[in-house]
Amino acid sequence: MTASFSRLSLAEPLARAVAEMGYETMTPIQAEAIPVVLTGSDVMGAAQTGTGKTAAFALPLLQRLLKHENTSTSPARHPVRALVLLPTRELADQVAQQIKLYGQYTNLRSAVVFGGIDMKPQTAELKKGVEVLVATPGRLLDHIEAKNAVLNQVEYVVLDEADRMLDIGFLPDLQRILSYLPKQRTTLLFSATFSPEIKRLASSYLQNPVTIEVARPNQEASTVEQHFYSVADDEKRRALKQIVRQRGLAQAFVFVNSKLGCARLARSLEREGMNTTALHGDKTQDERLKSLDAFKQGKVALLVATDVAARGLDIKDVPAVFNFDVPFNAEDYVHRIGRTGRAGQSGLAVTFVSGSDTRLVGDIEKLLKRKIELEALEFEEDRPRGRINDGRRAWREVGEVGDPRDMLDAPRPQREYRAHTPRDPFFDQPYQPPAADAKPAWEATVRPANRVSANIKPRRKVAALFKSE
Ligand code: AMP
Repeated sequence: MTASFSRLSLAEPLARAVAEMGYETMTPIQAEAIPVVLTGSDVMGAAQTGTGKTAAFALPLLQRLLKHENTSTSPARHPVRALVLLPTRELADQVAQQIKLYGQYTNLRSAVVFGGIDMKPQTAELKKGVEVLVATPGRLLDHIEAKNAVLNQVEYVVLDEADRMLDIGFLPDLQRILSYLPKQRTTLLFSATFSPEIKRLASSYLQNPVTIEVARPNQEASTVEQHFYSVADDEKRRALKQIVRQRGLAQAFVFVNSKLGCARLARSLEREGMNTTALHGDKTQDERLKSLDAFKQGKVALLVATDVAARGLDIKDVPAVFNFDVPFNAEDYVHRIGRTGRAGQSGLAVTFVSGSDTRLVGDIEKLLKRKIELEALEFEEDRPRGRINDGRRAWREVGEVGDPRDMLDAPRPQREYRAHTPRDPFFDQPYQPPAADAKPAWEATVRPANRVSANIKPRRKVAALFKSE
């Protein structure tokens, strides 16, 4: 059943924004949640990011706030009325951008605050007054302590990705923030799972919530070709590079379990000539947004990420997902591989399983309710590397200075190849950047007749992965 937005009788400025964004029918979470939020009930929603969850809470929330809309320049006339809390900076930024778009034709103001960047511009914006404040918990507490944010007129609070906030250890921060809010308010909690901890949080802070659950992706998409390769830890990088090369993959997500592992792997791949960027919590906000942008624009081939950093990012389809580490949580396996093979496109999901991962693979088998066959990966013969050079220093940085570990984020030095190792002349062809107006890989719509994803490029395109300027 499809539900049109016109059924909702949204106020004209909101309906116009929705129409301009090209939304025609509501997603299942929107069809279920919007009418409930419009009544002012508390909601406990089980929905992943990517389901249209932001509009599901933001549209009715803006609609209910319209009665406060005004054009006064006095900050006192624009107190915070709605607070949206999210676990990561990227998610906060993404949700804030969406809320700005939904509210663009209203006089309601919105702002976002998150850590990792200067507080001053955020403070200036808060001091002017905003009705909708999107925030990560830590930075919001900083602003509360600095008396930049006053929350005693909040009518709505959204705890988005609540399970992730608890995973990260934000419970004490959340408890403190919630203690500053009026008791009389509407609370909306969204979480991928309703774990006992989430239920406990809900029972403490929600009043008679309406529970809304949309289909959970606890099944793999049938369009995703999945492989589990048995690979020793120290062979995983080689395996990754080989599969990227053999499949001619233009772009891929590479998931790892730790921030440290993420940074290390990205650095190693980058040093080995793969066009790579990393997304993890220890990078500055600016670096993280730049990484994301570069990947979205197709300028970067591999995005190495942790689950927390990647969760909910609005990157719809990549040709392949690598689980460099088997995820600790089986549900993350489904989230991760859900990045590929979307909208009927075919996709590839490759998981590297080392000796110590047996239990984790068992958890995935239980979730998927099927047996997983471990495959052996046959390594291609190494390219000849010369007698002395072991290959690691085949690329020499011209004018290289400082610690090569800084390479990932530093401006890239010119490289030249020491021509002492025979190699395929193909790799000496210059890198051809995608056309400026080229659509990102995951937005490609044309599918070749053989039904292979349009995102899976023919083998020759592999040159794009190696920098040779
Ligand atoms: P979200 O789960 O809120 O992060 O939304 C994921 C993506 O779906 C965002 O890019 C939204 O702009 C888009 N989206 C949300 N609702 C709709 C809709 N009803 N129709 C089409 N796209 C939508």
